[in-house]
Amino acid sequence: MPIATVTLPASATASAITLPAIGQGTWHMGEGLAPRDDEVRALRQGLDAGMKLIDTAEMYADGGAEEVVGEALAGRRGDAFLVSKVYPWNAGRDSAIAACERSLARLRTDHLDLYLLHWPGSIPLDETLEAFERLRDQGKIRRFGVSNVDVDDLETLWSLPGGRDCTVNQVLYHLGSRGIEHSLLPWQRERGLPTMAYSPLAQGGRLRDSLLADPTVTTIADEHGVSPAQVLLAWAIRPTLAHPDGEQRDMIAIPKAIRPEHVRANAEALTLRLDDAALARLDAAFRPPSRKEPLDII
Ligand code: NDP
Repeated sequence: MPIATVTLPASATASAITLPAIGQGTWHMGEGLAPRDDEVRALRQGLDAGMKLIDTAEMYADGGAEEVVGEALAGRRGDAFLVSKVYPWNAGRDSAIAACERSLARLRTDHLDLYLLHWPGSIPLDETLEAFERLRDQGKIRRFGVSNVDVDDLETLWSLPGGRDCTVNQVLYHLGSRGIEHSLLPWQRERGLPTMAYSPLAQGGRLRDSLLADPTVTTIADEHGVSPAQVLLAWAIRPTLAHPDGEQRDMIAIPKAIRPEHVRANAEALTLRLDDAALARLDAAFRPPSRKEPLDII
């Protein structure tokens, strides 16, 4: 069974790139909640299993998560598609350059594959855009994107010169939090802007971990011989209905996992395809939104 992939569109300076549709999150790594060696091992195991995208942020453990990622990537930077994020209050014309350089040092690399604005703040988007473009010109980032951004701010970004080079929007998305399906996802799909689904296992936002024990989810998992978490991931990255002729996907899920069995299961979900009947049962249990909802944010 081929693995599910997503193609990020070409931008002014980077060609299109196809990535496995499940990557690895790192929130809470580097906080001492788990042994550091386990965190490093988990990320390497995930890379070996094909989860090439690693998502981190200067915010996580105050840079500590980036240091864990740097250790995991020692000697194998080329195996990863590396994503980090800048705090909104560091996203100014000069402050974003300095923040990115600090991230690069912690990550022990000379470039990020993708740099995201973590969430919109008071610094105007055009200033952040200017900083991202400078970072790109300097070769410190290959692409830029945003996170926790709803339609209004995307409209603003789209109206700015160079704004359409934005490569992804990273937002909370899981079976129990489908609000983005009403307006945001259609907006992005119309413009070919892929989405990164954070907290795909529902560890944040509405419903939380009760999703893993939900009877519809567990029944479908049993029928497919997989785990509830794998059902949630396969659901999040399911092919888009907007393109019925092909296996087109535009959603990358980034579960965070440290336990080896979790890492293995998440990578295996890259080949899990839920049929239409299973998707319809999940729709019946977790209704898609019928009107615009505020963006769910952790
Ligand atoms: P997730 O939904 O990924 O859940 C993580 C939890 O699920 C961990 O406790 C993990 O356990 C457990 N888990 C992982 N895999 C499995 C599995 N196969 N079966 C059962 N349990 C499993 O939550 P996060 O909130 O961490 O979101 C994922 C990532 O998204 C973050 O790490 C971060 O990179 C990004 N993010 C971005 C945000 C933003 O504002 N842009 C906000 C929040 C998250 P264990 O670790 O013990 O294996």
